[in-house]
Amino acid sequence: MSDAPTAPNLYDLPRPALDAQLAGWGFSPQYRERVWTGLYRDGVMALGDVTGLRPDLQAVLQERARLGHLATHHESFSSDGLTHKLLLRLHDGQTIETVLMRFKGRATVCVSTQAGCAMGCVFCATGQMGLSRHLTPGEVVGQVLHVTRILKAQGETLRNIVLMGMGEPLHNYDNTMAAMDILVDPKGLALAPRFITLSTVGVVPGIIRLADEARPVQLAVSLHGATDAERAALVPAGRRWPLNELMDACRYYVEKRKRRIFFEWTLISGRNDTAEHAHHLGALLHGMDAHVNVIPLNPTVGYDGGPSVPDAVRAFQDVLTSYGVPSTVRQRRGIDIDAGCGQLKAAVERKPRRPLPVAS
Ligand code: SAH
Ligand code: SF4
Repeated sequence: MSDAPTAPNLYDLPRPALDAQLAGWGFSPQYRERVWTGLYRDGVMALGDVTGLRPDLQAVLQERARLGHLATHHESFSSDGLTHKLLLRLHDGQTIETVLMRFKGRATVCVSTQAGCAMGCVFCATGQMGLSRHLTPGEVVGQVLHVTRILKAQGETLRNIVLMGMGEPLHNYDNTMAAMDILVDPKGLALAPRFITLSTVGVVPGIIRLADEARPVQLAVSLHGATDAERAALVPAGRRWPLNELMDACRYYVEKRKRRIFFEWTLISGRNDTAEHAHHLGALLHGMDAHVNVIPLNPTVGYDGGPSVPDAVRAFQDVLTSYGVPSTVRQRRGIDIDAGCGQLKAAVERKPRRPLPVAS
């Protein structure tokens, strides 16, 4: 396999791009398909392990291309053994978080789309770091391949993907979507789009683009505040995309895609968990095909807020119910291993930086 930094990482290339690259190197359609299925069905670790190629083509592949694997920099398991948190190292030394969760026989991976994040949400460990860079498609795909291999060794398969690790997927739209195209390809990993959830802080142009491009992923929008002032205090991106624009984009998405949207609400004691907050949220979502996931805050070093108490969580949900808005409490799993977004990296590296200004 080529070590040249200019050699393309084949995991970066969706099928049409890989086809074009391989065609240029003299691969027939049959051999091009063999490379694709070797990478994603057989899950080869080295290009030399792709079987069924003519020897000359095998040599070309190894000379001109590479496979960008991610190395395990640090890992930990929750006390119940169900959550496996990985800090993976990229080729330039950046580290990103990937979390593998198993419950009821269904494995879910939480993947990162950026190293850090530019959005600066005050309670989020990733937001407290600022953005280092976007991930390439191959670095998103690489996280999924990494956990797929772990699962395979234990006779398990991956079902769900949630884009809820480090970073804002719609701030890295093209690379994230290229990765999704690779993951759902029926001749490759063949993951089901309906089991892929994309969570966004509310990047309005990205939501509209998702709707227009008919991307079949499940959309989750992080709200955390139901008035502009309250939201902006927690989510600086709320200043750039105010609630009226965000909700218009969400309604457009629901109408165009005929799908419900999930809204995420991190419950922070005394800050956004009172009956008044719940009434604002209920009024905002009333009549919409929406479901709210309330998530008690996972405290972070850089933020002084704490999680809501169970009674406040129940009362919050009761108010939502009175508006006909369904909700579910989601516990952030693996709290004992810093499994909140960005927390393992923060704990391992302890190099906090100031958030960058919000980018488009
Ligand atoms: N950038 C995207 C996806 C990554 S964050 C987004 O913001 O939606 C995934 C979810 O975790 C978001 O809803 C985010 O608000 C939430 N989150 C981040 N830090 C958290 C914390 N410390 N406690 C609870 N939820 C948190
Ligand atoms: Fe970025 Fe999401 Fe964290 Fe906000 S919550 S800083 S958007 S990763």
